[in-house]
Amino acid sequence: MRIVMIGSGYVGLVSGACFADFGHQVICVDKDESKIARLNAGQIPIYEPGLDDLVARNVASGRLAFTTELSAPVEQADVVFIAVGTPSRRGDGHADLSYVYAAAAEMAPSLKGFTVVVTKSTVPVGTGDEVERIIGETNPEAQFAVASNPEFLREGAAIEDFKRPDRIVIGIEDERARPVMEEVYRPLYLNQAPLLFTGRRTSELIKYAANAFLAVKITFINEIADLCEAVGADVQQVARGIGLDNRIGSKFLHAGPGYGGSCFPKDTLALVKTAEDSGAPIRIVEATVAVNDSRKRAMGRKIITACGGSVRGKKIAVLGLTFKPNTDDMRDAPSLAIIQALEDGGAQVAAFDPEGMAAARPLLPNVEFATSPYEAADGASALVIVTEWNAFRALDLEALRARMAEGVLVDLRNIYRPDAVEAAGFTYTGVGRGLAV
Ligand code: NAD
Repeated sequence: MRIVMIGSGYVGLVSGACFADFGHQVICVDKDESKIARLNAGQIPIYEPGLDDLVARNVASGRLAFTTELSAPVEQADVVFIAVGTPSRRGDGHADLSYVYAAAAEMAPSLKGFTVVVTKSTVPVGTGDEVERIIGETNPEAQFAVASNPEFLREGAAIEDFKRPDRIVIGIEDERARPVMEEVYRPLYLNQAPLLFTGRRTSELIKYAANAFLAVKITFINEIADLCEAVGADVQQVARGIGLDNRIGSKFLHAGPGYGGSCFPKDTLALVKTAEDSGAPIRIVEATVAVNDSRKRAMGRKIITACGGSVRGKKIAVLGLTFKPNTDDMRDAPSLAIIQALEDGGAQVAAFDPEGMAAARPLLPNVEFATSPYEAADGASALVIVTEWNAFRALDLEALRARMAEGVLVDLRNIYRPDAVEAAGFTYTGVGRGLAV
């Protein structure tokens, strides 16, 4: 299959490289000239484990190429994927579909022969109808079908997720798209990944329902964690105790500073807006959005409390800035709100992140960036773990303590045993650990 991927970001680049690895002929297109120049120079513009090898191998085999030029590749394509961003629209929280619609309008004049146009971006119900209208109006001669194929990969494990998905959801309204999409995913289909064909609107909604459900699950355990602190219970054990029930499941039951990242915040908000507009409000997701929004700054207050009620004039070391480990993505990372709260309280923040510091620098102009966790801790009154990178799981606590002015450790991911931390000369504050374990 000849595939064009419009948008070469976290989703487009990973999907394009994986499709090429399946044996398809893939051209990734992006408007960002510097991104394409870097890709053509053999550099990967994002941090995603394994992506450099995958891209290099498929470029070398001649199955993967990068360009800013849309028209020639689209003329040749059997399938054109749209994988551009759909951020929150400023002001009202609806998904901003301007990039998706622009991509549809830009490709339309170049469509030749029957082509399947697929939205891989996360888009609200009805977007496929609009993409179909835009292409049809721009190029009335075009022979095409518009399908929805939402992406469920997680940053940090994106290649594994793409190649071994729990399911592949494909929404179609035109049966001509079915054999084409089956061919695109045939290598995975043979490995028994269920290919779930639905209507296009259903497929669009599945993506939002899935993300909202996961966000609800995270927020649920976060509120249980707060209750644990109030009543002297331990959320780690509560999570295990409920997660062993197969109907609940143990995943996404880790109490922490609130969800962030490039998907959950914007997708939960967009679902709330779609539901409101459709006269079917989803109150549980509305509550989740509100609870999670207030939680991030509350984590800042938690750190200030752990420091005795004030951080004015103190140095606070923050370990982990990205919204989760194994990515450099800083979009909507909880660290941003937490650090803001600390700076508002008069603290000087020093931070270290294994991969996120380049993306974090412009967002955190007052932060001092360290070259290691130990350097960040120099002279600090408190050490705060915000993101659970593996590199932070086995720190030399005594060495850290020796470099610090005061011994406060706030573990917003519950990765340390309180007794081990206390033995190294710290006071320990976790999330939802009302009882020492
Ligand atoms: P991104 O911002 O990393 O990448 C989007 C890319 O599209 C950018 O490089 C941008 O320059 C390019 N672009 C925008 N308009 C273009 C146009 N008209 N022509 C060519 N290129 C254009 O975004 P992302 O994280 O890859 O997300 C893309 C979509 O996938 C979003 O809808 C997102 O919700 C969804 N999604 C993301 C993830 C994730 O983990 N990042 C997971 C599942 C789904």
